[in-house]
Amino acid sequence: MKSSIAIGDCRIVLAVALALGAGAALAQDGNDVSADARMHAERGLQAAADFPGYASLCDLDMTFRNVNLPRTGQAQAREATSGNAASGADAASSADVAATASERAARPSTPPAQVFDNLFFVGSASVSAWLLGTEDGYILIDAMNTNEEARSIIEAGIIELGLDPTEIEYLLITHAHGDHYGGYRYIKDTYDPAIVMSAADWQLASTLGEHPRFGFPPDEDVSVTDGDQLQAGTTTLDIIVTPGHTPGTISPAFTVYDQGQPYRAMLWGGTGFNFGPNYEQMNDYAASANRLGEIAMQQNVQVFLSNHSRRDGSLDRIRELNERGPGDPHPFVQGEELLAVFDVLEQCALAQAARILEGDL
Ligand SMILES: [Zn+2]
Repeated sequence: MKSSIAIGDCRIVLAVALALGAGAALAQDGNDVSADARMHAERGLQAAADFPGYASLCDLDMTFRNVNLPRTGQAQAREATSGNAASGADAASSADVAATASERAARPSTPPAQVFDNLFFVGSASVSAWLLGTEDGYILIDAMNTNEEARSIIEAGIIELGLDPTEIEYLLITHAHGDHYGGYRYIKDTYDPAIVMSAADWQLASTLGEHPRFGFPPDEDVSVTDGDQLQAGTTTLDIIVTPGHTPGTISPAFTVYDQGQPYRAMLWGGTGFNFGPNYEQMNDYAASANRLGEIAMQQNVQVFLSNHSRRDGSLDRIRELNERGPGDPHPFVQGEELLAVFDVLEQCALAQAARILEGDL
């Protein structure tokens, strides 16, 4: 089952593992890599065996770009011309940043999917949007890149699944990057949900101006903090704030049902290390991953999701789900092996923090 997931990323695991396994003291760029960084990267890559979509976080040649810096006039012009999403995009989207418009257009569309009784995928191959809830109320998690995507992918997907988008009560934005808030205006103007972010990310949003692709970020609406809950009809979502990818990234937890059988689920709200060589923030990321892993263990979490489908392999899992026979296991449900993903996130962040400390940038 898992062998079919994100085969492309396996090459990254292999390449990095080979470099490490050879006892190389040099990264591929020729810089020294501290023993500490290598030790954490080795641990992270071992844990990544079942989670190939996260292995690239342990790449010791990674450059620490910062998508939160004010964009230069040159960068703005480049993005406007190319239609690329260099700012605000998750590191997992870097392939999209490099893709030409024609390559993007040639990609097959991603049909919407019912993944659990009360969880629906309404995103693309690049960035995910998830609809949680039942006909008595929904929470939409993230708004994709643009108003056009919100209309043609999120709204169209919800309607194609036979659901009623007027029941969206909340738009939860996992973090203040444009690939997650860019379509908020269409959703807000059409269905008027409350827009939810953490205080720290409302603050970050207030520093961002208009972006040629994503437009303006939303004005502050509902601010939530760790331990809060959103309630939409009979659906409850727990807010867990996991600083790291941004200062106030939200990683929500909620219960999903498979033909009535409940499973606890979590969504890691921000993945890439694209905030510059910031030692404190990298350590915050590692601490958040560790803490979320503890909570996942306590709550017996069996479903781990992302807001980028290449990270959690959700499109491959949806394909498996579509071919699922009676009595087959649900491809999104995992056992205790799920907890290893938190080791990947923590150890890779510690590896990168060690590089920053050593000045190995
Ligand atoms: Zn992001």
